Amino acid sequence: MRPDTPAENVDHTAEAALLERTADRYPEDAEALLLRAAAHRELSGDRPAATALYDRLLASDAALDQPFLVRALKASNLWEYGHEAEARAIITGIRMAAPRDPAPWLIVAESLESHDELEQAHETFTQAVRLLLTGPGPGTSPAADGPKPPRTTHPLLFGRHRVRRMLGAEHDAWDALADTVHTLPITLDELHDPKRVWSLGSENPVELEAEIIRLRAELGAYREALSRPFPVAVLHWPATELTELTEAYPSLAEEYPSYDAHLATIEADLRELASSGTGNLGIVTGTVPSYEAFAASELSSPEDPSLLPQYATTLAARGRAVAWPPEQTAPCWCGSTRTYGECHGA
Ligand SMILES: [Zn+2]
Ligand SMILES: [Zn+2]
Repeated sequence: MRPDTPAENVDHTAEAALLERTADRYPEDAEALLLRAAAHRELSGDRPAATALYDRLLASDAALDQPFLVRALKASNLWEYGHEAEARAIITGIRMAAPRDPAPWLIVAESLESHDELEQAHETFTQAVRLLLTGPGPGTSPAADGPKPPRTTHPLLFGRHRVRRMLGAEHDAWDALADTVHTLPITLDELHDPKRVWSLGSENPVELEAEIIRLRAELGAYREALSRPFPVAVLHWPATELTELTEAYPSLAEEYPSYDAHLATIEADLRELASSGTGNLGIVTGTVPSYEAFAASELSSPEDPSLLPQYATTLAARGRAVAWPPEQTAPCWCGSTRTYGECHGA
């Protein structure tokens, strides 16, 4: 388990209640907040309460950012407490709709896998990687010399690799691609050796614990990520907002001598946090009106620099943090037109 997620210390019921209250207060952020609340409800063992949250999102009038992810999580949760037929019907619907986002595919394929539907899990993983990684047209194998698969698709490649080893299948081109993208200190083939998976029944507690940690690194990583405590988030002001802020509140100019310095400080702070082992880092973007509203709600003045970190934490709690670091080839977090690798990630 990651050092920042002492799961045994998290009161999942209290976290869920807090997120649900925050969602009532900020309806525009309800989707991100209620998905996290539902993850906590699942981890607390209250699966019906999680279903109620998924249904609340699916029934809301607001268009969802990730409707298939919500459906996938609902199906996976339903299956865990005996609603197999309903879960299977939702999974079939998602596969037919063929969403372009890797997350719902991963949730439903893992759900099938965890209920020993290995053939169907394999079909689902295969359908997903073909759809998401073969480029234009109906392809059956990885695009030759294509761009590296985006990080968000790696769990699909790993999951497919894992299921195929349990099915005793030969390596194919997708397995080879999975082998090239993973970065664990042991090889995927070692990790997915069925004998290792079966040694979960081992009597040796040390061996057992090591196996559980290895498997946990893959299965369920998505839900675990959703249920982590609020990310450590650093505040970013876009150039126009920073100008407006420091003109309206000159005392804050001490914090922000220039826009370029502001950007450089953000990247340096995040790298320092990462190198000290802090995980789940993110960036939140401030605007002057929302900062003023926050200051007013705290009965304080926007001139007070000690409000800035509290404002960042509140934005993160509202689900507004964007994960850092971006991929090297993704647009930089600063909003420039360059990739992260050519901009602040250089
Ligand atoms: Zn392999
Ligand atoms: Zn940049």
